[in-house]
Amino acid sequence: MKQVGGDRVAVRTFVGPNGDAHVYEPTPGDTKTLAASAILVVNGLGLEGWMSRLEKSSGFKGTVVTASNGIQSRQMEEEEHGKTRKITDPHAWQSLANGRIYVQNIRDALIAADPAGKDAYAANASKYLAQIDDVEKLVKDQIAKLAPERRKIITTHDAFGYFGATYGMEFIAPQGVSTESEASARDVAKIIRQIKAEKIPAVFLENVTDHRLLDQIARETGAKIGGTLYSDALSEPNGPAATYLDMFRNNIRAFSAALSS
Ligand SMILES: [Zn+2]
Repeated sequence: MKQVGGDRVAVRTFVGPNGDAHVYEPTPGDTKTLAASAILVVNGLGLEGWMSRLEKSSGFKGTVVTASNGIQSRQMEEEEHGKTRKITDPHAWQSLANGRIYVQNIRDALIAADPAGKDAYAANASKYLAQIDDVEKLVKDQIAKLAPERRKIITTHDAFGYFGATYGMEFIAPQGVSTESEASARDVAKIIRQIKAEKIPAVFLENVTDHRLLDQIARETGAKIGGTLYSDALSEPNGPAATYLDMFRNNIRAFSAALSS
């Protein structure tokens, strides 16, 4: 938003560095912030279940922009209490190809809301889209260097499905696509067997999830901990993933370091 809006917009974020957008609890300050805003950008795809309550309590009258509009969503099946349910994977931003669509949606929304800024928004967006192209090239180049049988990664929750589908890596997660539900003992046992059988080299921690589960899996399988991935939230401004593109740079560096043979 800041990349496209530049100096013409003031951006406020509800879920800050290392926050968990799946289970965020809005504060009274958020209600005031939203009430005073003209545009609300959401990810959509069911990520922010708490947002409709916040919208209602704030009396928000502005424009809601769903950044993921137009992407092709991934449908997953998850087992819960013995029942299989269909669920949409909300983590579309983890594919830079989708990131381009997010940027275009934000650009178009800003132009609609502030036509006088059209040239600035268009120029900012195309500059940023070019940066996305560069980082995407880096990601593809780095993955191409990895042996195909080593392109397998364990993460805590299933946040990298779009990344894997777009760039050709396999991600396995005990926790499913939301951080709301906990992994069952059966899920964990299954993953431990899978890591051993497929000789998966590394498990990765995430900035938004509890480390204990993966520590246990690493202990029981001998897989190494491959570092911290930024999945759903950025790092602090002085951290390794302070921006959307730095998140990709950090994650691909971690994959390369852990999976190079
Ligand atoms: Zn997530």
